[in-house]
Amino acid sequence: MSTEKDAIQVTTIVDRSRLALQDDFLRGAVRFTTERLRGRKAASSEELGNWEAWRERGRQIRSHTIAHLDYYLRQFVDNVQAHGGHVYFAANAEEAAQTIVKIVEKKQAKLAVKSKSMVSEEIHINKHLQERGIEVVETDLGEYIIQLAGEMPSHIIIPAIHKTRSQIKDLFTAAGATNLTTDTKDLTAFARRALRDKFLRADVGMTGCNFAIAESGSVVLFTNEGNGRMVSTLPKTHIVTMGMERILPTFADLEVMANLLPRSATGQKLTTYMSVITGPRRAEEADGPDELHIVILDNGRSSQLGDDEFQEVLHCIRCGACLNVCPVYRHIGGHAYGSVYPGPIGAVLTPLLNQGEAYQDLPYASSLCGACYEACPVKIPLHDMLVALRRRNVEQGRTKWAERMAFQGYRMVFAKAGRYKRVMRLARKAQKPLLRQGYVESTMGPLMGWTESRHAPALAKSSFRERFQSMQQAWRRGEDGGDQV
Ligand code: SF4
Repeated sequence: MSTEKDAIQVTTIVDRSRLALQDDFLRGAVRFTTERLRGRKAASSEELGNWEAWRERGRQIRSHTIAHLDYYLRQFVDNVQAHGGHVYFAANAEEAAQTIVKIVEKKQAKLAVKSKSMVSEEIHINKHLQERGIEVVETDLGEYIIQLAGEMPSHIIIPAIHKTRSQIKDLFTAAGATNLTTDTKDLTAFARRALRDKFLRADVGMTGCNFAIAESGSVVLFTNEGNGRMVSTLPKTHIVTMGMERILPTFADLEVMANLLPRSATGQKLTTYMSVITGPRRAEEADGPDELHIVILDNGRSSQLGDDEFQEVLHCIRCGACLNVCPVYRHIGGHAYGSVYPGPIGAVLTPLLNQGEAYQDLPYASSLCGACYEACPVKIPLHDMLVALRRRNVEQGRTKWAERMAFQGYRMVFAKAGRYKRVMRLARKAQKPLLRQGYVESTMGPLMGWTESRHAPALAKSSFRERFQSMQQAWRRGEDGGDQV
């Protein structure tokens, strides 16, 4: 079975995918869970009715918000401050992490509890805090499991999608559990006991933010386990980390998203807990933190604003539906992407947020089938963006020499009909040594990767045009076969 440590040793999506494909359990678990999520989503969207109209409304809300992001961000910040919250803008991951570290150190905190947040993974906040001797505990069950395993989430919504109950039992036993069985109730009871103590002792609670409402300065959290409420109310200090695109103008817009997000993510009609947090605890309130700090992260997002090809990536509401339908994700799982955001959204977002070489191969992890677009509740054309990213790689000379030569040759051959015919005649002869039962199979060279997992049919003995011409000639002579044309 492959591990995240193995995945880190290899550097390309191809190598990481190869490793993942050897892991039968991983493939089975991902297929089983994504199929269940797809089925539930289909049922709950049908139950709502007019799903396409809801999607279109979702797209319009996100498009309007992102087109006026500066205005709504300002409104949100003004309202947070009016309610006694503190707001910080971070240009990049390092700045966001340092801002949070400063807040935590100022409070002389020893223990921080967290609810699930992809942005906190993006800025690697756990590592930054742990390096300073601050204990950080993930409290979402899936995140707790992968924290114990020392791994990254492998799905946006279900971080431990790749773990068996028996593996979880081993992880919990190593964390202090005794006499555990693999029964789900038994496992969750241990996690509940272990986390309860952490909630009660924590100095700082850290959450992400599903949506930030500009008109009220509220942070909205969607959770299913109730841990978000514990994290955001029990500790004296609450720190929210959010991407700058999380904004929604009004609560009326939230109503649309409250239908689209849970149904697309897990097929639920509504999320189990929807917490709306507006400022820290007021004098007359019984619970809540004394301080609320909101860190708003850019980290490459503002570079997409005004870009006709990529601005829509900021519409994403992180539901994970595109992962569940992607034929590539369903085979290789999340760790093969080597980035915080896996699946089709990760294959677009990660290279956009990280301009270096490291993730520029991710847009090739797609069959371009468009299933991600069909699944997306806010209609983001991810497949078009994947093509645009590949084109950008070509324009920036990031493709391999052999690939460039191959496509130049392809263009030359297809530019002239005569040239094409001659090359096809040659190819028919050249394929002979590679033929196995009517299919081309290459055990070496650039064709190998293609034919190792696909059937590449052999070129026909004669082309359609050649057959058509010979049939026409036969027909003119009145021979058999003329009427087959
Ligand atoms: S791109 Fe669409 S389907 Fe994928 S996570 Fe974002 S909102 Fe969901």
